[in-house]
Parts: sequence; C-alpha cells; structure tokens
Amino acid sequence: MLTKFDRYPLTFGPSPIEKLERLSAHLGGQVEIFAKREDCNSGLAFGGNKLRKLEYIVPDAIASGADTLVSIGGVQSNHTRMVAATAAKIGMKCRLIQESWVPHEDAVYDRVGNILMSRVMGAEVQLVDEGFDIGIRASWEKALEDVKARGGKPYAIPAGASVHKFGGLGYVAFAEEVRAQEADLGFKFDFIVVCTVTGSTHAGMVVGFAKDGRQRNVIGIDASATPAQTRAQVLEIARNTSALIGGKDIADDDIVLNEDYAYPVYGVPSKETIEAIRLSARLEGMMTDPVYEGKSMQGMIDLVRKGFFPEGSKVLYAHLGGVPAINGYSYTFRNG
Ligand SMILES: *Cc1c(COP(=O)(O)O)cnc(C)c1O
Repeated sequence: MLTKFDRYPLTFGPSPIEKLERLSAHLGGQVEIFAKREDCNSGLAFGGNKLRKLEYIVPDAIASGADTLVSIGGVQSNHTRMVAATAAKIGMKCRLIQESWVPHEDAVYDRVGNILMSRVMGAEVQLVDEGFDIGIRASWEKALEDVKARGGKPYAIPAGASVHKFGGLGYVAFAEEVRAQEADLGFKFDFIVVCTVTGSTHAGMVVGFAKDGRQRNVIGIDASATPAQTRAQVLEIARNTSALIGGKDIADDDIVLNEDYAYPVYGVPSKETIEAIRLSARLEGMMTDPVYEGKSMQGMIDLVRKGFFPEGSKVLYAHLGGVPAINGYSYTFRNG
C-alpha cells in the first residue's frame, strides 16, 4: 500500500509486541492484553509515535530544500521533542512554538522532560501564552514568517504532524507491521486500543486496518477533551490518507472514539488516570504518562472491567510513548 512513498528511517524497525501477563491476570484473565511498544521504537530522544509519522514527512522536507523544521505543541509536547531530534539527525535547524495548552502548575514544568531535551538538542524554543487547540495556530504561522525574515527556509510541520498531507502514512505502515507480526505470532488481535488527540495515529490505523475489515476494532481513547474536533479531524485525515494511497472509502462509523476518559481537561490526569499509571507500572514495570497513555491505559482497564471486550479477546494496547512528560508532574507523584 505504501511502496510509492519515500520513507526516511528514524526508527529501529518493527517495534516489539509483548504480552502483559500480570495486567491481564489482574483484570480477571478473560481478556489477553498485549502492548506494542512504540515507546521503544527508536534511539532518537526516547522515540514514540511522532517518529513513525515523521519518517514519511522527512523526505518531503529534504526535497523542499528547507533548512529549518518549524513545529508546535504544548509546553511538554512529545511531538516537538521528536521534531527537535529529527532535525538534529538530518542536520537541520529547529524552531518550536510551545503553547500553554495545559492548566497545570508544577515548579519545573517548563524545565524538565520533553522541553529540556528539545533545548539540549539545539532547538530554538519559544513559550507562547495560548490555550489548547489542535487546529492551525497563528503563533506557528508567525514562526514560519520569522524564519523566512531571517533568511532561512522553513518546513512546516503541524501539531502532532497530523494535518500534513503525509501525516497519516506512518500508522498505515503500523497496521502492515502488525499484520506481519500476527503472521509470526499465529493469531490476530481482536481490538487495538489507541490514544487519540491530533488524530493521524488513529486515522492511519483506521486506513491500515480497513484493508482486512478491522477499522472499527481500532478503539480510540480521546485525551483531547475536545472530542468533536478530534473526531472530525480523525475522519478527515483518514479520508485524505485513504484517497492518497488508493485505499477503501472511510465511513463516519469507522471512527470509534471513546470520550469517557479525557476528563478533567487535556494534560491534567484524573484520580483514575493516576491509578491506571500506577497499576501498569507496578504490575508490568511499564511506564505511561499523565497526558496521553495513562488515559488510554485507564480506558482499556475500565473497558476490560466493564466487559466491553468479549471473553477470549486479544487486545493490543498501542503504547505511543510520552513518558518524559511525567517529569513535569513531580508533585502529583511525590509519594509514588
Ligand atoms: C501525540 C501523542 C498521542 C496522540 O497521537 P495523535 O496522532 O496526536 O492523535 C498519544 N500518545 C502520545 C504519547 C503522543 O505523544
């Protein structure tokens, strides 16, 4: 499906799939839970899902003759950290807009984790006082103009690398990779659980798994707390990506987005999210973060407990990365 698109390798190759034995048993053993470890997919600054998207974007950036990657996210954005790492790896400059997407106050929030690494990797980081929005932002457009005004050649990468024409391809490739791993494992996954915010991870999976009719078994767990906008963006990206690769038509109902776990707002973990983070850490030694994966972990655990997955189901939790942000929540976890 993807052979006609250039891919610049930023990841190690297929990410591992492991069974979460103790978590499965803890939840009653009726459902087998596996994790696909996108959080360990690369040696570039802790890796994660954005690198898979960027693999299909970098060839276009290089071909454009650009010298600066320009992107945007929240203060503790994983995406901007991965753009900074990619820029370093391919020898470009990096300009990042970090907006105040999260109403969260931790003394070192803008000094540790993702933003610390972006600075160390040489990105020019600018903090901006704007609230959460997954759309196109004025601050980002201004940064693009600014790079030009200084004589540079910017290459624009939107929030989460999502509404880029090639933003959905990486997770189409993910579905192909899972299919190949399933052939080796000798079974297929019944459900794939994924955290959804800017949308191209979920959208790419929908297009990729539509190939064998499993698109509605991709269960998106919203972490944006603006689910109508996120849902519309997933649908649009899925349709554009499918048209781009000559895939199947994507229907409204192909996008399954559960809105129940994003509360109270984007970036702020609920008590239940914090419990889910502790549970997977204590049973599996698998760390998740308070912004994204802790919420999808909470959602998966709750859905297992509610009997959403039929007995005997094999569930694949896509662990998309994001753990560095937990450093910005030092007070929340001060006692573990
Ligand atoms: C960006 C991100 C997501 C959400 O992916 P989208 O493609 O923006 O929907 C989930 N988890 C982590 C760790 C992320 O960094």
